[in-house]
Amino acid sequence: MMPALERLQGKRALVYSMGIEGRDLAAWLLAKGAEVTMSDTRSPEQLAAAGASAPDGVRNVHSGGQLLAPTGFDLLAVSQSVLRHSPEVKAATAAGIPVFSQMQLFLELCRGRICGISGSSGKSTTTALVGEMAKAAGISYTLGGNIGTALLGRAEEIPEDEWVVLEISHTQLQYVTRSPDVAALTNVTPNHLDQFDWDEYVDLKRTLIAGQSADGVAVLNADDEVSRMLATDTQARVTWFGRCEAPGTDGAYISGATITIRRGGSVAGVLPVSAMRLRGEHNVANVLTACATAAAMDLPVEAIETGIRTFRGVAHRLESVGRAYGATWVDDSIATSPERTIAGIRAFSEPVVLLLGGREKNLPLEGLATEVAARARAIVCFGEAGPLFHAALSTKAPQSALVEGLEDAVEAATGFVRKGDVVLLSPAGTSFDAYPNFEARGRAFSAFVAALPGFEREEAQ
Ligand code: ADP
Repeated sequence: MMPALERLQGKRALVYSMGIEGRDLAAWLLAKGAEVTMSDTRSPEQLAAAGASAPDGVRNVHSGGQLLAPTGFDLLAVSQSVLRHSPEVKAATAAGIPVFSQMQLFLELCRGRICGISGSSGKSTTTALVGEMAKAAGISYTLGGNIGTALLGRAEEIPEDEWVVLEISHTQLQYVTRSPDVAALTNVTPNHLDQFDWDEYVDLKRTLIAGQSADGVAVLNADDEVSRMLATDTQARVTWFGRCEAPGTDGAYISGATITIRRGGSVAGVLPVSAMRLRGEHNVANVLTACATAAAMDLPVEAIETGIRTFRGVAHRLESVGRAYGATWVDDSIATSPERTIAGIRAFSEPVVLLLGGREKNLPLEGLATEVAARARAIVCFGEAGPLFHAALSTKAPQSALVEGLEDAVEAATGFVRKGDVVLLSPAGTSFDAYPNFEARGRAFSAFVAALPGFEREEAQ
């Protein structure tokens, strides 16, 4: 146990942010007998609208404006939204006030076996897949991390033989002091460069594996240049995943057209790539990551196979909503940048009626224009960025429409769609022009689609 955590009784603790992580931290600190103050830049009205209220027992709440300065407190606990180079965190560090985060505390406190999954993209999908494989193996496991869960309440109860499978974002890696036993990096590509410069970002990803011991396993992407470079920064045994076999090392790869695992030198075919239910090249990479990770956790090949066969995908990520007008309607509301939309379109071989819109992030549209020209039956642009997307892309598609909101976009799509098409909400913009988050936008889309005449939900297989 870190010295600052040994006696929390009566300590004055300040918690930044009243979201899920901040509330989890506050509740844990209260249970340890600390006096807790919470601070959030959101106004009381915004907090109420977000359903963010302080747990019972919190002494003071400062909301709106600047975060409360840490001066006079014995420790600072921060949610991942508070960046380590923010003035308040720097002030705490300069004053010798220990700083903690939810993920860091969890990793310090939990005695279970930790499998941590990070990377620039594919984290949620890979984590959920590994969870599905652990379920199929019948082992005792907990799934958590960057998927909106309170973790700390259970941290000290988890027994040594239980696996904890965690999705870990780059911001959660900020304060981490212990690396997972099995640590997987899906890929490391430019992302979030508005928050960190590239070297800092790579450094955060390095944290996942840098603290591992020789008993640990680092699961790295052989097709990713940065991951190959990071391989020398861990004491752990390195296993690889990638499209081709990395000769002589354990991991997962494609042999012929079969997903294959090599473990302890012996090779096992898991299943043909064509048997995967997940669509898209990027999901082949995610399945390979999950296979290599599950192999490092010693899960049996049969369970790994069952996990892949039963996994239907994570909500709002190329999630099939159902069929209407002879087409499949797909929710990829997570795709908030043109790059993600390109990956979304490429997941299908069918002609695509593409729904684009939301709030744009001033990202280049050339790549998307090429993809639209090659693959789109029509584009429908909606929301705040609708006019901009329409101006940039309408000449690339055979047909196009510019409408007001998402409901209008669904309606307009019915005018373009033909039998066998895919109608794809992969909007290339964030939801914040009209919805609190991409999940709410995805749910709204599903509801609009479900109200279409003749709608049929997909049969569970
Ligand atoms: P994350 O949790 O890292 O945001 P998700 O698994 O939720 O990633 O996938 C989100 C989107 O990112 C997908 O819809 C797809 O567009 C893209 N993506 C997913 N996995 C990969 C990958 N391995 N390589 C490149 N892009 C990916």
